[in-house]
Amino acid sequence: MFNKILIANRGEIALRIIRTCREMGIKTVAVYSTADRESLHVRFADEAVCIGPPQSSESYLSIPRIMAAVEITNADAVHPGYGFLAENADFAEVCLEYGIKFIGPTPEQIRKMGDKITAKETMIAAQVPVVPGSGGLLQDVPAGKKQAKEVGYPIILKATAGGGGKGMRIVWKEEDFESAWNTARMEAKASFSNDGIYMEKYIEEPRHIEFQIVGDQYGKVIHLSERDCSIQRRHQKLVEECPSPFMTDELREKMGNAAVKAGEAIKYEGVGTIEFLVDKYRNFYFMEMNTRIQVEHPVTEEVIDFDLIKEQIKIAAGEPITGGNRYPQMHAMECRINAEDPNFDFRPSPGKITSFHSSKGHGVRVDTHVYAGYTIPPYYDSMIAKLICRARTREECIRKMERALDEFIIEGPKTTVSFHQKLMKDENFRKGDFNTSFLNDFNFKD
Ligand code: ADP
Repeated sequence: MFNKILIANRGEIALRIIRTCREMGIKTVAVYSTADRESLHVRFADEAVCIGPPQSSESYLSIPRIMAAVEITNADAVHPGYGFLAENADFAEVCLEYGIKFIGPTPEQIRKMGDKITAKETMIAAQVPVVPGSGGLLQDVPAGKKQAKEVGYPIILKATAGGGGKGMRIVWKEEDFESAWNTARMEAKASFSNDGIYMEKYIEEPRHIEFQIVGDQYGKVIHLSERDCSIQRRHQKLVEECPSPFMTDELREKMGNAAVKAGEAIKYEGVGTIEFLVDKYRNFYFMEMNTRIQVEHPVTEEVIDFDLIKEQIKIAAGEPITGGNRYPQMHAMECRINAEDPNFDFRPSPGKITSFHSSKGHGVRVDTHVYAGYTIPPYYDSMIAKLICRARTREECIRKMERALDEFIIEGPKTTVSFHQKLMKDENFRKGDFNTSFLNDFNFKD
């Protein structure tokens, strides 16, 4: 087992990783930018190293600076968390060269799944159903239009290097193709310095249902059931839950088998997520794979009573997986609490938290790095806490979530708590009747 793990991340996920390391008796090193001196992940780690100024490019995204911190502290493994360098194959490769264990999949696996077109080709070869589409990069507007006609409108243009909902444009008819193409390319270039665009059939009103998988170094892959992430705003997840209200035992078996097949096809090592779109007839299509721990992983932890970070560390240390697929024993739901103003188009609201009281009580879990007096820096992701509730049924879980949201006090910055309170009261949400378009015409204002 590892002696000391350096956590190449910040915020709640860094803290989450430190907690598991503590329980496993592994020493921890936090890295931080000058903007994060006061973050709890810095205080709770055994050692902390300042790696640079606030800009991510000179701190959390700087491979040389992180490797220098590894060397100074003599860490023998690195946990990348999510975001930043978590899906950077070059970083995983540098770790390999330096003899430092990267807690995650191999560089080849990251590379293969990181490029969405290659990922889809790999899945087609493994006989996993994928969203129908162009199959490769689009050359130009005329070629794109020709293919769109073949695929059939509506279609969606997507960046092959995409993430976080960026570089995506839905096109309903040919007249709109060119302008959508231009914006998708511009956004892709600006966000990923890669303007490669491909096309998919736009699945109307689908559910986003993903499967958590775990693979060890010996080729064994299991799944830990699904998470429904259909509650999205601009292709970004706001609420996740398990079981999906749309799930049946039969569909879970089919999708779970496909997810395991997907993992086996690349001999996947570590924890990963296979994302599917599911249409109203319960046809499902592979969309992409995330080769890291995800923001919403606590939902799975709560329904099957399993520590996913611990599992990642054990797998990286060469331990085999024991047992088979896992199925939900409870209902769990996560609300992402962002420092954003729902009354003003969710614009970021950084600044000092003057008063903070986290929800508590039976079945309530809050993962956060903030506290009263903490100042949210403007440089990073606006998520400041994850509120996760667990109960025997979905109905009880929603009631618990309503209670927990009412109890959550964050004064200073505006937060998305009020949005979640409204959502929990929505009749269709309560019925489980929603899809990825649900928030398109939702009234977010108080
Ligand atoms: P990203 O990596 O940027 O998060 P994804 O490929 O995971 O992008 O897609 C994000 C969301 O966009 C999905 O959850 C879904 O709501 C929507 N989406 C993506 N592809 C399609 C499609 N072919 N049809 C309908 N919706 C889609």
